[in-house]
Amino acid sequence: MAIRALSQKKLLKSLSLRYFSPKPLNTAASASPSASSSISINLTEKPESILQNQLAALSANTNANTNNSSYINLHDAEKLFSSVSTTKLLRATANLHLASMEPIVDLGMWVMNSKLMDMEVFRDIVLAFVKHTFYEHFCAGENALATENTVRSLNSGGAGLRAMLVYAVEYASDNQSCDRNLEAFLDTVEIAKSLPPSSVSFIIVKLSAICPMKLLERVSDLLRWQYKDSSFNLPWKLDTLPIFSDISPTYHTLKRPEPLTLEEEHDLQLGHQRLLKICQKCLDANVPLTIDAEHTSVQPAIDYLTYSSAIMYNKYDNIVMYGTIQAYLKDAKERLLLASKAADNIGIPMGFKLVRGAYMSSERKLASSLGFESPIHNSIQETHACYNECASFMIDKIANGPGALVLATHNVESGKIAVAKAHDLGIGRVSQKLEFAQLYGMSEPLSFGLRNAGFQVSKYMPFGPVEIVIPYLLRRAEENRGLLSASSLDRQLMRKELKRRLKAAVI
Ligand SMILES: Cc1cc2nc3c(=O)[nH]c(=O)nc-3n(C[C@H](O)[C@H](O)[C@H](O)COP(=O)(O)OP(=O)(O)OC[C@H]3O[C@@H](n4cnc5c(N)ncnc54)[C@H](O)[C@@H]3O)c2cc1C
Repeated sequence: MAIRALSQKKLLKSLSLRYFSPKPLNTAASASPSASSSISINLTEKPESILQNQLAALSANTNANTNNSSYINLHDAEKLFSSVSTTKLLRATANLHLASMEPIVDLGMWVMNSKLMDMEVFRDIVLAFVKHTFYEHFCAGENALATENTVRSLNSGGAGLRAMLVYAVEYASDNQSCDRNLEAFLDTVEIAKSLPPSSVSFIIVKLSAICPMKLLERVSDLLRWQYKDSSFNLPWKLDTLPIFSDISPTYHTLKRPEPLTLEEEHDLQLGHQRLLKICQKCLDANVPLTIDAEHTSVQPAIDYLTYSSAIMYNKYDNIVMYGTIQAYLKDAKERLLLASKAADNIGIPMGFKLVRGAYMSSERKLASSLGFESPIHNSIQETHACYNECASFMIDKIANGPGALVLATHNVESGKIAVAKAHDLGIGRVSQKLEFAQLYGMSEPLSFGLRNAGFQVSKYMPFGPVEIVIPYLLRRAEENRGLLSASSLDRQLMRKELKRRLKAAVI
């Protein structure tokens, strides 16, 4: 009971929360926080008919709005790469070429996961190779200083791109590792503070790095069961936004889960405290925080912690906390609409990062191993449509109201559709409400094209010691196979620009 007594109120008190002032992040001196969390939300309310009408209108609207070709120029390689040195272009072309060769990626992944890595000499050679190729291409640096330098060069000299800083740990299994990761995330905010204010757009956190994975699974099970049976009591549950829709998959939780033990409840509070500490630090540093989306087995708990913290921290125009929606999920659009409507109803601005999703193969494997239909759209076209419809819904919403959207994508068509819509609605230059983002080392033409069209563009920049970042690189390599081999447009444009520079130098 003593553990349960560490209630939300105490939790907030222990973080010495004050009141927010209505200043948007990244505009001026930091605002101060609020302890007001007693907003009550009717979680049983399911405005399905309103939702169905909105979804139908959204589909029609997005399909009609496809005249999108003219706002981003991806053909003028000289203009696109004007801020990139020839050495960088050469290295990028070589690294992308290497990463696009499937046999090399297969071999690399086999080696990294093999027992050979236990031999010190072999391991050192492999790590040195990775460091000077993939790591340097896709990561910002091993420590704070190297990362700061990379962010500065991304932002200065006409490049004008911003950084989403992410300490690239994958997940933690106990409180000790979570505490270590918390320190690393807090240090990440310190890195942001030491850089020019406009150069860092977001701090990114993986919740499974600050709350043990097993616990996130347990909490997700309990939340899922409560959605099925509203009489199922979760005494530890805080106010949140809707996490499920009627079509959300429930196959992860086939039988009524046991309540959390006192120890689990305590660990959940510790996880939430860690998240609130990061929120507070981000608020003080005037830089927003985005929580990454992960597997569906843990996403309900991630959304729950994200939304309950957003209710405490997002006030007026100040969006401290952004969640992430994965458009490859069949229930993505409904969940986005429900969460954003509930946020409007209780008067908090909510920010969303919209991605397609990076755990496709493992999601499909899990669903099929349990004998259920995959939670992922049956075709890539459906994923594209879902992505564009979610983007369209949010762009309409933020054009006239609260909220913010980060379109995290390498998909040129999605970029063009969103830009055309934003242009029609008059959202654009220096808007903090609509931003674009690509992974560091990927889709440079799209990033520069969007920047040239007047939008805020960020690069998602993982950093940390090579050994810590390797699981992140392996996951990206595995999940982004198609993407890396589809980077041929990038390489083509880079080669074109290299040839032009060579010619100019010779003549
Ligand atoms: C800034 C940033 C942040 C990100 N954060 C997250 C995050 O928090 N969580 C997360 O899960 N991912 C995240 N990602 C990765 C993202 O989800 C994608 O894996 C990646 O960006 C590729 O999608 P795309 O929008 O760039 O689209 P595209 O370049 O069009 O790539 C589409 C890819 O989607 C896949 N795909 C999706 N649905 C289907 C389907 N139904 N059938 C077949 N293939 C399908 C295919 O592999 C294909 O290669 C992030 C990406 C970026 C750029």
